[in-house]
Amino acid sequence: AAKGERRGSHAFYQPEFHEVLRQRIATERELAEAIERDEFELHYQPRVDACSGRLLSLEALVRWRHPRRGMVPPGEFIPVAENTGQIIALGALVIDRACRQLALWRAAGLDVVPVSVNVSAMQFRHGDVHDHLARAVSVAGIPAELIEIEITESAMLGDLDLIRERLAAIRALGIRIAVDDFGTGYSSLSQLQRLDVDVLKVDRVFTADLDHRPESQVLFRAIVSMAHALDMRVVAEGVETVPQAAILRDLRCDELQGYLVARPLPAADAADTIRRAASESARGERRGLYRIA
Ligand code: C2E
Ligand code: MG
Ligand code: MG
Ligand code: MG
Repeated sequence: AAKGERRGSHAFYQPEFHEVLRQRIATERELAEAIERDEFELHYQPRVDACSGRLLSLEALVRWRHPRRGMVPPGEFIPVAENTGQIIALGALVIDRACRQLALWRAAGLDVVPVSVNVSAMQFRHGDVHDHLARAVSVAGIPAELIEIEITESAMLGDLDLIRERLAAIRALGIRIAVDDFGTGYSSLSQLQRLDVDVLKVDRVFTADLDHRPESQVLFRAIVSMAHALDMRVVAEGVETVPQAAILRDLRCDELQGYLVARPLPAADAADTIRRAASESARGERRGLYRIA
């Protein structure tokens, strides 16, 4: 038997394993109730133009407003929801909420920017994401062009023809496709090009290395030039420092996202950011959400 298997069964007898399992079951039960009651809320993190700092779009990031535990970050329940299949119902709530928020902002007179929504691999494979997106934008009465979906590389493994077909149907609605956390999985740029991906979001591990590992700049430059040749936009995730932003701009990265620009914001604060961006551009100002120098 393989070494890994022995280690796996050994783990079964460790008391911590039972504790982990117990926690998971508790979370699964609580999640079911939370989905029933829609205890989720979206925060919105800006994506800006790497040169001007101008607001281009917002990424919707889910939080669980737990009755006792307070605001629970997605890392603590998305993996559980993926294992149990609950991600399909949860993902549907997220799509609905994002579309509804855009409709509310528009009704309030805001000059909105597109919102991108994370779609997990399990949800993409087994949920009817296309039909749900089509219904959600139509119920909310918003243009589908205001929605982008972010899918990780792992969702793009498997039957490439089937995946291409599904993505094409979603793109035909007017919805853009982004690959999330690029560089952490196994997909190649040529594969992504065949899938007609619009946006490449480079994982933050690459951004983090930029200002102290020269090799990572070489890597990033290659990613940007290939992506551009294949007609994709490049977004750097996890930009935290001014030197990183300056390097990324010089490497011709298109967009930046990260704590340097803004943290994920509750809807009301995101609305303020949209208003501020719109009034700046109306006044012809080019201040943007952040400045390199
Ligand atoms: P992601 O899609 O890659 O989202 C970016 C994550 O990085 C967010 O964490 C964000 O708060 C964090 N982040 C942004 N800027 C910085 C930075 O400068 N430094 C650092 N260290 N982190 C930064 P969050 O909100 O905890 O979400 C974690 C992950 O959970 C997301 O990663 C995404 O994979 C997943 N997720 C969030 N919302 C949803 C959702 O609605 N559906 C699905 N399926 N997954 C979601
Ligand atoms: Mg994402
Ligand atoms: Mg990401
Ligand atoms: Mg990431």
